[in-house]
Amino acid sequence: MSALNLINLRKSFGAELVISDLHLRLQKHQVKVLIGASGSGKSTLLRCINLLEEIDDGQIILDGEDISAVGIDADKVRASIGSVFQAFNLFPHLTVLQNITLAPRLVHGISQPEAEVDALNLLSRFGLSEKAHQYPDLLSGGQQQRVAILRAIICKPKLLLLDEVTSALDPVLIAEVLSLISELKNDGMTMLIATHEMGFARKVADEVLFLKGGEIIESGTPHQMLEKPESAELKNFLFALEQAGRL
Ligand code: ADP
Ligand code: MG
Repeated sequence: MSALNLINLRKSFGAELVISDLHLRLQKHQVKVLIGASGSGKSTLLRCINLLEEIDDGQIILDGEDISAVGIDADKVRASIGSVFQAFNLFPHLTVLQNITLAPRLVHGISQPEAEVDALNLLSRFGLSEKAHQYPDLLSGGQQQRVAILRAIICKPKLLLLDEVTSALDPVLIAEVLSLISELKNDGMTMLIATHEMGFARKVADEVLFLKGGEIIESGTPHQMLEKPESAELKNFLFALEQAGRL
C-alpha cells in the first residue's frame, strides 16, 4: 500500500487553475522532491495534502484512507502528517522543549515527562541539547528550522511535508538543515519536499518531480532530471537556475 496516493487532484483559486489533474504516488520510506519556478503550485499541493486547502476534485489517499472524503476529521489527519514551512514555525513564547512537546501532550495525549524524554533524546541526537530551555529567537535560523523539523517528527508521522524549509537561510545554516533531513531519509521517513536546492534534491530524492502550472511536466531520478532533462520546460527552468548561479 502506498503511503500517499494523489488521484486526479485539481485545485483552483478563483479562475486560476493551480493544480491540474495531478497524480502522484509515494511509497513508504520514499522521498520525492518537487521542483519548479515560483508560482508553479508546490506549496498549494503540499497544503492540499495536509488539508489546509480544500481540493476541487480528485482524491487524497493517506496510508489507505481517503482523507479527502466528506466528513473526515481534519485535525486527526493533520496529527498524522508532519509539516514544516519556510519560516515562522515555532511559537516564540514557548521554549524549544515546550515547542516540541506541545503536540505530543495536547494532540496525542502523551504525559509531560514521557514527551520530554522523547524530545530531549531527539535534541541530543541532533546536537541541540543546549537549546532545550531557550526561546526560539535566541537560536540561529538553521537551529530554529531544525527544531521545527524535530517538532514535526516527534510523533512519528506517516508522512513529512517540507516546503522550502531552507529558503530563508544562508548557506552554512542550509547545510545543517539539509544534513538533518538526510538523516531522516536514512531513518526511513516518508517525505514530500518542495525545494530550490538542486544539490539537495540530487542527494535525497528517490524521484524528482518538475511542476509547472500545477502539472507534473517531467519526473525521474535526480540524475535524469538534472543532467538529462527532456522537456523544453525543464530545460528552460534549469537554464534559468544556472544563469542565476543556483545549479
Ligand atoms: P509555489 O509554491 O510553487 O511558488 P504556490 O502554490 O504558492 O506556488 O502558488 C501557485 C499559484 O497559486 C500562484 O499563482 C499563486 O499566486 C496562487 N495562490 C496560492 N495561494 C493562493 C491563495 N490563497 N489565493 C489565491 N491564489 C493563490
Ligand atoms: Mg511555495
